[in-house]
Amino acid sequence: MGLRSQLGKIRATYLSSRCRRTVALGNLGPIVTFTFDDFPRTALTAGATILERFGARATYYVAMGLMDSENRLGEQFHRDDLHTLAGRGHEIALHGFKHLSARRTPVEKFADDVAEGRRAIQECIPAGASNNFAYPYGEATLATKHRLGPNLASSRGTIGGLNGPEVDLNLLRANSLYGDEEQVGRARRLILRNQVEKSWLIFYSHDVAEKPSPYGCTPLLLQETVAFAVAQGARLMTVADVVTKLQAV
Ligand SMILES: [Zn+2]
Repeated sequence: MGLRSQLGKIRATYLSSRCRRTVALGNLGPIVTFTFDDFPRTALTAGATILERFGARATYYVAMGLMDSENRLGEQFHRDDLHTLAGRGHEIALHGFKHLSARRTPVEKFADDVAEGRRAIQECIPAGASNNFAYPYGEATLATKHRLGPNLASSRGTIGGLNGPEVDLNLLRANSLYGDEEQVGRARRLILRNQVEKSWLIFYSHDVAEKPSPYGCTPLLLQETVAFAVAQGARLMTVADVVTKLQAV
């Protein structure tokens, strides 16, 4: 193992084990959640459509500063796309405004950016965002866990693994869904493990395209993953659906 990945593992263990705000998953699992970050338009035009075919909905962590822009993940969402998603029952969640890294931003400035992102969504869609947040780049710090955690229903990172039996609402575990057909096996193994452990498996991705960016997936990979989760009998829920139930337990 290289030094960089060793340091990454140490950081992940450190971040996951401290400043936790845990709730028991109880008997809610196995659950599978699909999330999209930023978000590129194809996460709606291709991604939402695939999920809806299975009667499922996704969580979209929206960084409003990216609206109407174009980057290496493709064309980003427009204002109307938020209305469309909300109207079709998907969850609009928080991802900051300027898509800042918590590791490279002073904690108060980072907290202000999350609040600005929330306000901007509220101005755009009357219902506003849910109170669930995902760290841009998956880069959380202990200081932001501590500062933001109590004010948010949940925060999601990109440290892999399954949530449960104890769920850390200050740093939900999530697994990338990137690539094409060659990744179907990996996604299926995660779903099977999640079935055995009766836990909560969260996937994250960005664009959904025949030729995706390195941070996106093909329609085929998404379709196969959703279909397999359904076939195994997992409950497909948004982050908000799960968190609401957790707090009601
Ligand atoms: Zn992002």
